[in-house]
Amino acid sequence: MLASIKQQITLTLRQQLLNRWTGLGCMGLLALTYAALASVIIENFAAQGNFSPIWPPSGLALAALLAGGYRLWPGIALGVFMANYLAGKSLEANLIFVIGNTCEPLIAVWILNWQLKGAGYQNIAGLERPGDYLRLGLAAILSITIGTILCVIGLYLIDELSPRVLTFSMLLWWIANLLGIVIFTPFFLTWRKLPEGWLEGSRILETAAFTGLTFLAGQIVFLEWFHQELGFIARGYWIIVFATWGAIRFGRHGITLVITMTFIQAMIGAAQGTGFFGRDLQESGLINMQLAFLVIAVIGLLLTLIIYELRKSQADMKLAALVYQRSSEAMMVTDANKCIISVNPAFTDVTGYQPDEVIGKNPKILSAGLNSKEFYRTMWQSISTTGKWQGEIQNRRKNGELFTEILSINTIYGPDGAIQGWVGLFSDISEKKRKEELIWKQANYDMLTELPNRRMIYDCLHEEIKRCQRDNRQLALILINLDRFREVNDTLGHLYGDQLLREVTRRLAVFTQGKGMLGRLGSDEFALILSDVNEIGRAGYCVNSILEQLAIPYHLDGEIAYLTASIGVALCPEDAGDVVSLLKCADQAMYTAKREGKNCFFYYTPSMQEAANTRMRLANDLRYAVQRNELVVHYQPIIDLADGSIRKAEALIRWQHPGIGLISPDNFIPIAEETGLIIEIGEWVFRQAAAQVQLCRARYNPEFQISVNKSPFQFKVDPARCHSWFEYLRQLGLPGESIVIEITESSLMEAKNNVCDYLLMLRDDGMQVALDDFGTGYSSLAYLKKFDIDYIKIDKSFVQNLSPDSDDLTLCEAMIVMAHKLNLSVVAEGIETWAQFELLQQIGCDFGQGYLFSKPVPANEFNQLFEKDTVFLLVS
Ligand code: C2E
Ligand code: CA
Ligand code: CA
Repeated sequence: MLASIKQQITLTLRQQLLNRWTGLGCMGLLALTYAALASVIIENFAAQGNFSPIWPPSGLALAALLAGGYRLWPGIALGVFMANYLAGKSLEANLIFVIGNTCEPLIAVWILNWQLKGAGYQNIAGLERPGDYLRLGLAAILSITIGTILCVIGLYLIDELSPRVLTFSMLLWWIANLLGIVIFTPFFLTWRKLPEGWLEGSRILETAAFTGLTFLAGQIVFLEWFHQELGFIARGYWIIVFATWGAIRFGRHGITLVITMTFIQAMIGAAQGTGFFGRDLQESGLINMQLAFLVIAVIGLLLTLIIYELRKSQADMKLAALVYQRSSEAMMVTDANKCIISVNPAFTDVTGYQPDEVIGKNPKILSAGLNSKEFYRTMWQSISTTGKWQGEIQNRRKNGELFTEILSINTIYGPDGAIQGWVGLFSDISEKKRKEELIWKQANYDMLTELPNRRMIYDCLHEEIKRCQRDNRQLALILINLDRFREVNDTLGHLYGDQLLREVTRRLAVFTQGKGMLGRLGSDEFALILSDVNEIGRAGYCVNSILEQLAIPYHLDGEIAYLTASIGVALCPEDAGDVVSLLKCADQAMYTAKREGKNCFFYYTPSMQEAANTRMRLANDLRYAVQRNELVVHYQPIIDLADGSIRKAEALIRWQHPGIGLISPDNFIPIAEETGLIIEIGEWVFRQAAAQVQLCRARYNPEFQISVNKSPFQFKVDPARCHSWFEYLRQLGLPGESIVIEITESSLMEAKNNVCDYLLMLRDDGMQVALDDFGTGYSSLAYLKKFDIDYIKIDKSFVQNLSPDSDDLTLCEAMIVMAHKLNLSVVAEGIETWAQFELLQQIGCDFGQGYLFSKPVPANEFNQLFEKDTVFLLVS
C-alpha cells in the first residue's frame, strides 16, 4: 500500500519534471527559431535602418502561443532579445522590443480566449472555419496596435526614432506585423502537422506540378526569369492562379505554402532590387508590397476555409442521404401540412407501399384505427410542446395485415424557427411482441388446459384480494382436487388422462362465467376464484354444482371414466387476508374433504388449523415413538367360519402416547406415511408379528398365520430390502407362509413395476398376499389375476349392513363366488353380530374377523384365547 503510494508520488514527480523539461525545451526551441528567423529578415530585408515589409516572427510567436499555450512566452522574449542583440541594438532599444514583441502575441491570445469565452483557442488553432481566420485577424489588429504603440513610442523616448518619421514608421511597423500574423500564423499552425495524401498515387504528380509551378511563377514574377518574354504587370497576378489552385486542391497546407513561398521569393527579389517589387523595398514602396500580400493572404485563406467548410457539410449530406437509403429503420418525412414528401426503402419493406403510393398523402393511410382519438391527441400535444414523441403504435400494412411499430416523431424547424415538417422513424416490432407474448404465456399458462397456472393464479388472487378489500366485497377461493385421478391416468394411460383433464376444465369453466377465474395449480388440482360472493350460500351452491358436474361419467374415445373431487373453500376476508394464508386455509379445507371420504367439500374452519397443528405436533412426537417404546401391536383373531377355530390373526398397531393416551392407527399412519417414518414403523411391526407367529406356531398351531398391513409408501423403497423379511423369518426358523402381507389396491396402482417385482419375490419365498378393503377402491378383476393374490378381504362397510334381502348380501355373494372361481380365499372384515356371521357362512365365506369374536388385543390377551381353547360356534 505504502509502496504503491510512494511509487505514485515518484511517478507524478517524474511526470511533472518531464513536463517542465519539455516545456523548457519548447521555449528554447522557440527562442532559437524566433531569433534565427528575425535575424534572417533583419539581415536581408531590413538592413541600414530600413523596415522589413513583413515581420514573420510575429506570426511565429502567435502560432506558438496558440498551439503551445501562454506558458511559452519566455521563449518569445528570449528570441526577441537574441535577435536584437545579434543585430547590434542598444540594450534599451532591445528591452523595448522584448516588451513590445512579447506583449503582442500574449494580448492576441488573450483577446481570442475572451472571444471564445473558455471554449479554448485550440479551436482557433485548428483553423477550420472562415470565422476562425477573421477572428484571428481581428485579434491581430488589436494586439499589434498596442504592441506597435509600445515599441515606437519607446524608441522615440530613447531617441532612436526621430519625431519626423514617427507616424509613418508606426504605420509601416503595424502593417509588417499584421502581415506577419495574417500570413505566417496560419502557415505555422497548418504546417505543425504534415499534409496527408499529397504523395499518394497519382496525386504525387499534381503535388509536384503545384509546388514546382508555384516556385517557377514566383521566380518569374519576383526574380525576373523570362522578363523579356512576359509582360511586367500581367505577371503580377499569376500568383492568384496558384493561390486558387492551392486553395481548391491542397487545402490549408496548399494555400499557406503558396503564400509563404511567394512571399520569400518576393522578398528576395525586392532585396535584390529586381522583379515585381524590385523598387519597393525603399520606404515609399513598402505599402504597395504590403497591401499586395495582405490581399493575397486574406483572399486565399478565406477562400480555402470557405471551400473546406462547404466540403465538410457536403460530406455530411452525402452521409445522411446514405443512411436514409440504407437504414433498416423505416423513415417518412412530411411537410408542414402533414403530407408525406419522402419515404425510404425500409418504409416500403415494412408497409408494402411504394413511394408514389404514399407521397402527397397523410400518414393516416397506415392507421389501423386501433389507437383511440385520445391517444393521437396526447401524441400531438407532446409533439407541439416538446417537438418530439416516441411510442408504440398499431398500424396496417398495404395487404391489410396489422403490425406493431415503435415510432419516433421529430419536428423539423427552419432557420426562422417555423415548423417545416416532421420526420417519422419506425421499426416493425410485431415479431418481437409475438415472441414476448409467447414467453409470457408459457410462463403464466398451463399448456394442456390453457388455464392460468399457479403463478398467474397467485398474481390474480393478490389483485383480486386488494380489489375486494377496497370495495368491501367477499371473495371465495375454491380448491378442487380430483380424487384418484392418478388411478385413472395409470389404468387408461396419459393420453386419456390429458383428455380427462381438458374435459374437467370444460366443465369447471362454466362456473367462471360472471365473476370468476379458473386456474390449474398442479396435475389434478384446480383453483376457482369467485370474486363476489356476498350472498350467503353462493359459494356453497356453486361447489355443490361442481361436485355434481364432475361426477358425471366421462366418455373418452370409447372408454368411460368415473371421477369425483374433494373441494376446500376459504373466504376472504373472514379466513385470511392475503394470498398465502388464503391458499393455506383452502388447502386445509380440501385436505379435510379428502380425509372425510372424498367427493365432498368443506369450508375452512379454525379447527382445521388446530387439527393441522395437532398433526404437526404428532409428527414430531412420532419420530421418537419407536425408540421410546410407545408403539404396541395388537392382534385380532381371524376365524375359520366353517369350524369357528382361530386360524390366523391380523397385526394392528397402536400408539400409547404419553400425553394423549392411546392413538388409533387411522390417526397416525397417514402422518407416518407423509414423514417417511412408515418404513421404520413397518419394519418394527413385522418383527413383532414374526415373534408372535413363532410363539403361536410353537405353542398352539404349527400352521398359524399372522397378517401384516403394508402401506403403499413401503413399496417405494428398494425391492431388494423386501427380501430381508424372508431372511428374518428364516433366521427365526419360520417358513414364508407364516406371514400374510395385506396390501391395498392403491399399492397396485402406484409404482406398478416395483410392486410386481415385489409380489413375485414374495411368491418365491412362499409368503401370501391379501387384498385389503376389497370393494371400496377400483376393484379391478384384472388386478386380482395379474398380481397373484391369495385372499381378498371384504370391507367392513359391506358386512355391517348385511341382512337377508340386502344388496350388500348380493354383492358379498358375488365377490365370494368370483374369488373362489379365481382360486382365492375370502376374509370378511367387521363381523359384529351372529346374524352377519350366519349370512356369511351361508354364502360360503371362508374366514371372518370382527368384534363379535374379539377386538384387537395385546399379545398376552391374544394368547389367552388359545389357552382357553376358544372356538366360535353358531348356536342355531
Ligand atoms: P384395516 O387394515 O382395514 O384394519 C381393520 C380395522 O378394522 C382395524 O382398525 C380394526 O380394529 C377394525 N375392526 C376390526 N373388526 C371390527 C369390527 O367388528 N367393527 C369395526 N367397526 N371395526 C373393526 P384399526 O386397528 O383402527 O386400524 C385401522 C387401519 O390402520 C387399518 O385398517 C390399517 O389400514 C391401518 N393399520 C393398522 N395397523 C397398521 C400397520 O401396522 N401398518 C399399516 N401400514 N397400517 C396399519
Ligand atoms: Ca388390514
Ligand atoms: Ca380392512
